[in-house]
Amino acid sequence: MDTQGKLEYLADASRFDLACACSAKTDDHRIRGPEGKWLYPVSLPQGGKSILLKTLLSNVCVNRCLYCPFRDSRDVPRYSLSPEEIVAVFLDYVRRKGIHGLFLSSGVIRDADYTMGRLLAVADLLRNRYRYRGYIHLKIIPGASDAAVQQALSLASAVSLNVEAPHRKAFEQMSQTKSFERDIVERIRRISDWTAPGAPYAGVHQTTQFIVGAADETDSEIVRATFGLYRRLRLSRVYFSAYQRGLGDPALPGERRVLSDPGDLLTREHRLYQVDWLLRRYGFSDDEIPFQADGNLSLQADPKTLWAERNPQFFPLDVNKAPKRDLLRVPGLGPIAVRKLLTLRAEGGRIRSRREMRCIAPRLLWADRYLKFPLRIG
Ligand code: SF4
Repeated sequence: MDTQGKLEYLADASRFDLACACSAKTDDHRIRGPEGKWLYPVSLPQGGKSILLKTLLSNVCVNRCLYCPFRDSRDVPRYSLSPEEIVAVFLDYVRRKGIHGLFLSSGVIRDADYTMGRLLAVADLLRNRYRYRGYIHLKIIPGASDAAVQQALSLASAVSLNVEAPHRKAFEQMSQTKSFERDIVERIRRISDWTAPGAPYAGVHQTTQFIVGAADETDSEIVRATFGLYRRLRLSRVYFSAYQRGLGDPALPGERRVLSDPGDLLTREHRLYQVDWLLRRYGFSDDEIPFQADGNLSLQADPKTLWAERNPQFFPLDVNKAPKRDLLRVPGLGPIAVRKLLTLRAEGGRIRSRREMRCIAPRLLWADRYLKFPLRIG
């Protein structure tokens, strides 16, 4: 197969990896290039937007992760691109299409360091031969050596190693060819050390991804692990990917979990993203997140509204005096609306009624339940 054909296949295959913020669900967010459909507008971990070429270097893999369409036991076409092929296509796109970066991942060819060598060859050619200074996101292959990881950090803008599960038991339900502690957790810890403020690779972002619903992990286990990844290991972003049935082994525990609707796994993923916002943007800690008795998030109600319902003593807040951290806990008030309200207050303005408040926060329902207004009108 020629380079374009392989790239078409491998770029499409890379949609299963979310750790660069690219959409995996539909083609909605992709931009169709003249030869294919593999340009992805993304939100970068350090903020801002970009358009990335996202592809696998190879879908050959010696591992057997049971949720993955490219595990060694599956009979699918296998292709690999050489570093030179990827560099040539990428630079052509940079010149002609105005894309701003590369997300490069791969199945494990032979072993971790051999594969890292191929990924690093791409980054090295771009940085050192072609003086490319833009965004490069490199996947760290589980079990890669310290030397390979450090070289990746010296070349990349961001790296990701997918944690996949919140603990070893859930991980081993999905994969027995990788060690959760040695190949994943220990590597993420070291990357965190090497990218900490003042460390040799400070400024390189680290992201990761959980698979949701393939093992029998609970949402509270994922949320606790996510909180630790942000707080203790300073990850830039954590992503959640609902397990896609039909790609995996029917023996996976998540397959046996009874869900009333196939969309429930996607709703679970959505609820985890809502919690991710509560942790990163709204000042919540993991022990404030409202879980059900089974340890999962409600599929019916969003977690911020549930927290407010379980904490009636916190409300109503004085709309003209409450501090930012309290306002952010009001269902329907997000960072933008809170910022507008605080700006208005800083300029000497006051909100007098629900009607005035709706100009700032149109999505604020049940305003009287959560906020106190000077006037009881509107
Ligand atoms: S290491 Fe696992 S998840 Fe990655 S490509 Fe191989 S089988 Fe798939």
